[in-house]
Amino acid sequence: MNEVILCKYGEVVLKGTNRPVFESLLLKELRRRASPYGIFKIYKSQSTVFIEPQNEEADLDGMYDAAKRVFGIAGVTRAAVTGQDMERIRETARAYFPTRLAGCRTFRVDAKRADKAFPLTSPEIAAEIGGVILSCVPGIRVDLHHPEEMVRVEIREGKTYLHAGQEKGAGGMPLFTAGRGLLLLSGGIDSPVAGYMMAKRGMEIEAIHFDAFPYTSERSREKVMTLADELCAYCSRIHVHVVTVTAIQEALRKHCQEEFYTLLLRQFMMKLSEKCARQFSCHALITGESLGQVASQTIQAISVTDAATDLPVFRPCIGMDKEEIVSVARKIGTFDTSVLPYEDCCTVFTPRHPKTRPTREQIEAELEKVDAEALTEQAYSTMTTETRRIFPTYR
Ligand code: ATP
Ligand code: MG
Repeated sequence: MNEVILCKYGEVVLKGTNRPVFESLLLKELRRRASPYGIFKIYKSQSTVFIEPQNEEADLDGMYDAAKRVFGIAGVTRAAVTGQDMERIRETARAYFPTRLAGCRTFRVDAKRADKAFPLTSPEIAAEIGGVILSCVPGIRVDLHHPEEMVRVEIREGKTYLHAGQEKGAGGMPLFTAGRGLLLLSGGIDSPVAGYMMAKRGMEIEAIHFDAFPYTSERSREKVMTLADELCAYCSRIHVHVVTVTAIQEALRKHCQEEFYTLLLRQFMMKLSEKCARQFSCHALITGESLGQVASQTIQAISVTDAATDLPVFRPCIGMDKEEIVSVARKIGTFDTSVLPYEDCCTVFTPRHPKTRPTREQIEAELEKVDAEALTEQAYSTMTTETRRIFPTYR
């Protein structure tokens, strides 16, 4: 039996005259993601993307799982394909649905025919296929109002698609449709979630990580690279820049008041991130901050941090509880890596009583005590870059 994958668009359908641009980027991304799974024909028709295997070797299961992680797609389903003659449609339904609907208690059939020349009306097709299912799936019955499973019969362009069990897609907007953002990626739980959330809105994600070598180990750098790899399941490709801020931390410890350490370090992180964003044409910074989570995330602390850069700073976790952030981290598969106990540069020199209500004047006065420009330049000169990809041949 011929099987294909059908992907239903999400928000892309709301786009007006720009819609073709979004659609073409979505198709391009699906084609790039398809390459490890064999040869597929991928095209769109109305609000559906069709993914058709071109030979026996094509891995439909692998492609199906890959399609579920492509942003811009709201629903994914496998469908049996046959011609437009009613006897063949019945036969296909009889062969396909016993396994597709195994264990399902109730169903309803929804039929659509784009081709109005087809001899049966949509309700007649639905009744026919409903009858076939009742005769070949043991124990199943019809429930028009609250069916456990919607069975769909779509007749279009000379073919008939029969399917059930549509699953949710990744949602959001296609990657690469919303500019490029630089994610401040720590080894924690929140920042990978923040990156995922902005990628879901179509942003291409680039990342910057600050380490405090030799106070932080090679293993903590590897942990960040693993997080980037995990994010690649959704973001496809991430350039990860690593900057060593040890000299900044030592200067702050030597010259500044302890209660401001974290906030001062964050000033440098923002300045270094801005420099990196400008060099690599990123339009915004992204952090995993959540209001009130720690001393450096009070409204006063966030406003002094914001003042360090002219770029927009996106904080998609700002209104989320830790529990909500954790549940996204589990869903996207970063949680287990995030909780590995390796040190982060922020935890190397932690003030005992961090300031929770800093003012800009206080921060500026503290920054006067060090040569901020020279420290920034020196740290920036340590930058190294690695590119992580969903699979080695992704381009
Ligand atoms: P996370 O769980 O993401 O580590 P957190 O709750 O530990 O967040 P902070 O350590 O205050 O919070 O960091 C706030 C944000 O600043 C992080 O979400 C991240 O975006 C950025 N950040 C913190 N440390 C680093 C780092 N070492 N490298 C890059 N970005 C960092
Ligand atoms: Mg952190």
